[in-house]
Amino acid sequence: MTKKTLRRVLAVWSASFVVAFLVTFVVGSVARAYEFSPPFKWEWDETDIVVEDRGYEYQSEIIGATVDYGDDDTDIDTTYSTSGSNIIHLLGDYEGENIVAFADPMSHSTPCFDEDHYLTGDCDTSDNRVDFAYIYWNTGADPQGYPDFEYPWTSEVAQYISRHEMGHVFGFAHPPPTPGCSVQTVMLTPEMGCSTFYIQLTSHDNTNINNKY
Ligand SMILES: [Zn+2]
Repeated sequence: MTKKTLRRVLAVWSASFVVAFLVTFVVGSVARAYEFSPPFKWEWDETDIVVEDRGYEYQSEIIGATVDYGDDDTDIDTTYSTSGSNIIHLLGDYEGENIVAFADPMSHSTPCFDEDHYLTGDCDTSDNRVDFAYIYWNTGADPQGYPDFEYPWTSEVAQYISRHEMGHVFGFAHPPPTPGCSVQTVMLTPEMGCSTFYIQLTSHDNTNINNKY
């Protein structure tokens, strides 16, 4: 996992938000989690994880993502609040124009990724689990050729960004080029060039969450 693959949520977004894709490939397939290496895990398995939005924009999409992660399909509980937060969404003009959004999870104040967004190895699945994260939404994003990823984003893109970045916070990485786009997950990236994007957690996502937590 490189800096760019983590930080960039950019590029190819020519697809519309179509549902139902390659159903025959899904039937009988085994859900596989694509995790960071080394993997890390959230501090609590089923304890309430509080999500906050300090950008005060895309609030409904962030609340929707919080409900999606905390619903009955998953074994984790997430709640939206404006205080006592564990995951804080921030909106601002950050860093490079190709960076639409990025996640910065940390374990007891120690970041899981360094400034170049390489894994530090300081977050793990046992003693140094993640207990806090910022998610940055970059209003300065201007990915060339992909106007859907320029701020302001549509509600659909915001739904995708919120779920995708929260997926990183919970320890999930992008699918590798193979099987790539055939994986039905919010962890697909625009630059993979997939024809389908998921703006709700899929059964694949829910299964992976429940296998990990
Ligand atoms: Zn990503």
